[in-house]
Amino acid sequence: MRAVVLDAAGQPALAEVPEPEGPGELVSVLACGLCGSDVEKLGNAAPGTVLGHEVVARTADGTRVALIHHRPCGECGRCLAGHESTCEAFESSTIRPGGFAERASADGWVELPAGLDDARWTAVEPLACVLRGVERVPQGRVLVVGHGFVGRLFASVLARRGDEVFAVDRDPARSGPAPDGPVGAAVICAQGGAEAAIAAVEPGGTVLVFADAGPILAAPIYRRELTFTGSRSATPETMREAVRLLPGLELPEATVLPLERFAEGLELYRRREALKVVFTP
Ligand SMILES: [Zn+2]
Ligand SMILES: [Zn+2]
Repeated sequence: MRAVVLDAAGQPALAEVPEPEGPGELVSVLACGLCGSDVEKLGNAAPGTVLGHEVVARTADGTRVALIHHRPCGECGRCLAGHESTCEAFESSTIRPGGFAERASADGWVELPAGLDDARWTAVEPLACVLRGVERVPQGRVLVVGHGFVGRLFASVLARRGDEVFAVDRDPARSGPAPDGPVGAAVICAQGGAEAAIAAVEPGGTVLVFADAGPILAAPIYRRELTFTGSRSATPETMREAVRLLPGLELPEATVLPLERFAEGLELYRRREALKVVFTP
């Protein structure tokens, strides 16, 4: 089958690879979204890696599903404390070889109803990550730092629960409404977003770190008694919640390209000309 495989330099190229083998069930990939975390892995992940975890697929019995890419055990101390993505069981991928392929072996999924197309349903996974993160953000006035696809998911979900939402981006053309004063909480969705987040929150405020934001100064956290909290990835529960919520959310259109045009889609994303790129095998 065809898949986008990282070469010796960690760069993606279309290649013929063996059909995936168990232990999971063989599914046909319908669409897979490109995530910022995939792009960060280029040049770093091991040769032979197939990326892609925002996967919509069809199971052998014809059901359309969104794949669950990691699974927490649900029983250890970290899981019970709500830190499922740090569970030891969460380390191994449950999609083999990865989503940028014609087929995959999968250990679990959530069923997708009719109504949206395959490309749009790939947003279930990033939305599920966002839903888990939002639980750590106190309600009120919230600034989203980094207004790309994930930033917009945050803005939609926060607005939906009644928050007053502001959004800034290093690209002024992407920014949303600028904050008209201090905010109670900020969400960092972009590299280098810490400074803007810390500057915006009022004393006693909360900052959710949702991206590898780079170095963060401790002095303002100490002096202004800020709360920093992190959230990464999704759980099967938030995946199910995302399926229910997604049809009612307003989201930017994705650029949909066949797997053969992976390099082109990657460039569109890197040049910030596409907010979201989805590939179909
Ligand atoms: Zn992702
Ligand atoms: Zn666990």
